[in-house]
Amino acid sequence: MELLQVDLMDEAQKKLYGFIRQIPVRTKKVSLREGAYTRLAADIPAPEDVPLFNRSTVDGYAVIAADTYGASESIPTFLKVAEEVSMGKAAAVKLKSGQCAYVPTGGMIPEGADAMVMVEYCELLDADTVAVCQPSAVGKDIVCRGDDMKAGSVVLKAGTVLRPQEIAALAALGVGTVEVEEPFRTAIISTGDELVPVDHKPEAGQIRESNSYSIKAQAERAGMEVVSTAFYPDQEDELETGIRQAMETCDFVFLSGGSSQGKKDMTARLFDRVTDGGVCTHGLALKPGKPTILAWDETSHTVLVGLPGHPSAASIVFELLVARTLRIHRGQPYQPYVEAKTMYNIASAPGRGTCMPVILHPKESGLEAEPVLGRSGNWSILVKADGYFLLDHNQEGIKAGETVKVYLFER
Ligand code: AMP
Ligand code: MG
Repeated sequence: MELLQVDLMDEAQKKLYGFIRQIPVRTKKVSLREGAYTRLAADIPAPEDVPLFNRSTVDGYAVIAADTYGASESIPTFLKVAEEVSMGKAAAVKLKSGQCAYVPTGGMIPEGADAMVMVEYCELLDADTVAVCQPSAVGKDIVCRGDDMKAGSVVLKAGTVLRPQEIAALAALGVGTVEVEEPFRTAIISTGDELVPVDHKPEAGQIRESNSYSIKAQAERAGMEVVSTAFYPDQEDELETGIRQAMETCDFVFLSGGSSQGKKDMTARLFDRVTDGGVCTHGLALKPGKPTILAWDETSHTVLVGLPGHPSAASIVFELLVARTLRIHRGQPYQPYVEAKTMYNIASAPGRGTCMPVILHPKESGLEAEPVLGRSGNWSILVKADGYFLLDHNQEGIKAGETVKVYLFER
């Protein structure tokens, strides 16, 4: 089978993104505790104001700002303590000019007060007299009712991924259950006559199957739900049955191995047969990762991804093509990186992008990136690597000492 339609990474990402957007969205209600890193299915309007009352952001005295104008250490303003507000209790008094009330951080500001003065600038002279040594201003150190989140306003939009901070905001609003999108259901299939399970000792010529492990972990990191992992010998009919079964219940089917031009390599043939759209990407202009295949089945709304068999190539393609496109879909199109100086010259592959795994070394002058050279069939390359940098398909290469963006392999 020829590599017919070789795509640049951008092109393949665009196609994949187009498919992902056509996968029907299923939703479910989850308790807020189970909601971390899921995607909201609908806008969330604030059911009430947060905070519900005017709160102090400091320990100090609630005052009428005008009473404190001109106050200084040499000429303090003397105020009568009308109340000591307790945490979790409503303030009772209504302040009049000449009065103040002690309010702890987060405590309720009494009616009439419009500013706080921190305790550091106050001196309690007797049981109910305070010397204020600094002027305050209206609103100083106060969060007013609804300042943080206003009742009725949309605080979180549909499609928002619930990070810890969004979860906390929902908790503050009293939203205990949320309607979220179900994660993409995913099947991971490996193929190869040489593959044996992890608990088997490989005989000469055999190796242990590992791609389903890395891809499962990567898929879960990318927010997918892996519903099955399986591996098959290079038997076309068995494999076809496996893929068809997976397509019935899954949104994504990953098949690693069998995607290059070897005699037994039948991923493309199979994808053509099991999808109505057929193969739309047959090869990626990426090193490593050339034997990557994409297909879309309109009938079952399933994305099929053929990944290279070589373990580190399979992981890299998942990261660059799948995980990155999923980030775009989740509204996080940027990718965190650190800058580092490459330690060696790295030549790029003509007409192809290059993904260069690196080890990061913190030095006094900043980070240095040591390229990890080796074959994409090696497991140890990515084990050593802290991250990777990319060379564009039309870039000539990079010289030692040049700065690169290193994307990190992190959770
Ligand atoms: P293929 O794409 O089938 O030609 O496989 C390329 C290389 O990757 C071969 O050396 C395979 O033995 C190896 N390989 C393929 N699938 C796996 C797998 N699931 N786990 C580990 N290595 C694999
Ligand atoms: Mg194979």
